[in-house]
Amino acid sequence: MVKSFPGGIHPPYRKEATSALAIERMNPPKTVAIPLQQHIGSRCDPLVAVGDRVLMGQKIGDSSAPISAPVHSSVSGKVTAIEQRPHPNGRTVLSVVIANDFQDEMVALMPAPKLEQLTAEQLTALIREAGIVGMGGGGFPTHAKLKPPQGVVLDAVLLNGAECEPYLTTDHRVMLEWSADVVYGLRCLMKAARVEKGYIGIEVNKPDAIEALKAEAKDYSSIEIVSLAVKYPQGAEIQLIDACLGRKVPSGKLPLHVGVVVNNVHTAQAVAKSLRTGVPSIERVITVAGNCMERPGNLLVRVGTTFADILADRGLKCEPYKLISGGPMMGIAMYSADVAVCKCTSGILALSKDEATYRIPGNCVRCAKCVDVCPMLLHPTFIAQYAERGMMERAEEYGAVDCRECGACTYVCPVNLPLTQHIRLAKSDIYAKRK
Ligand code: SF4
Ligand code: SF4
Repeated sequence: MVKSFPGGIHPPYRKEATSALAIERMNPPKTVAIPLQQHIGSRCDPLVAVGDRVLMGQKIGDSSAPISAPVHSSVSGKVTAIEQRPHPNGRTVLSVVIANDFQDEMVALMPAPKLEQLTAEQLTALIREAGIVGMGGGGFPTHAKLKPPQGVVLDAVLLNGAECEPYLTTDHRVMLEWSADVVYGLRCLMKAARVEKGYIGIEVNKPDAIEALKAEAKDYSSIEIVSLAVKYPQGAEIQLIDACLGRKVPSGKLPLHVGVVVNNVHTAQAVAKSLRTGVPSIERVITVAGNCMERPGNLLVRVGTTFADILADRGLKCEPYKLISGGPMMGIAMYSADVAVCKCTSGILALSKDEATYRIPGNCVRCAKCVDVCPMLLHPTFIAQYAERGMMERAEEYGAVDCRECGACTYVCPVNLPLTQHIRLAKSDIYAKRK
């Protein structure tokens, strides 16, 4: 039975250009710029200095803060700078710039013992040391999700394989080509979180991935593959939990408050790979797509590779009108191609003018289409209007902070009102006041 959630939209999915293209390893670039913040939480401090020689997989940044994750070098070579560099989040972040010596000289690796020989604490510590963070775009340090606060009882790990954003096919290829790692990674996460049940939610437009994971998980009765309707934002955590487990996350609460740890399927694969090989999180798969791309594809790239290097490697047919990190619904438009791929970069879209046309906003015609599609059952038109008028208390009363910024309301608005953008402003104002 195909499961889903209330509300949502059906944008053109535009995955045909890359969904059948196998993962290709991109040649490493001459230089990588590795941001010391690739996660939600505290920035890492550099552990190396300009002039140092570093090995591939060597830890180059860490923090003692509980919500953080170390970063590692994705090449061997010489540190040429530690400086502010553009980041996919739109700001600049202190980054370690390394000139690649193309030796790929790896730091001494320590593969983990078998899963049966590891305790939950050891698994969580190994996941932290490998620098694993949410690879679906969120970037929350994975180890921190596995240690719930006192009084919270977890009973399930849910892997997100929905990949509902148009264009992106990264998770699809990871599930199809590395299904054994995805299932092993899920088992590791289940043991680390001390839960008995594991789920993988996948939209039914990826039947080959569903079959591959069902075959891989057939010997584990505690793991269930859940077929999901093709609908945006099926991959948003709250909607995924609702669809797969029928649990509602209350306003202001997190998935862990309904007993669930949600991780992306690529995160699970990265956990498995780091435990099997000892290689930390230094590369990831990204979808490169959009009408401007000469050769779209799914690329395995080193963390710290700049978007400019990737665009040059795959070739451009035309100058991108808009360059997006992530998908077109929740991704962020880039002001520079000098930003580097982080552990949570799921794709790069080089969109042509006809794919990314800016539309002139009109006046609200009270059609309520935005209300119909909101997966959080909000009234986007009211919240946005209050935000626009600076009435943030009223926006808060109408549940602005529950908005997941999915963009569905903006997408359906017939008069092109930038509802999500107004609500996002309200949220940042409300959070700033709370702080
Ligand atoms: S109000 Fe927020 S959650 Fe609701 S549709 Fe708009 S962006 Fe999505
Ligand atoms: S969809 Fe647009 S026009 Fe319709 S009620 Fe919402 S804001 Fe107004």
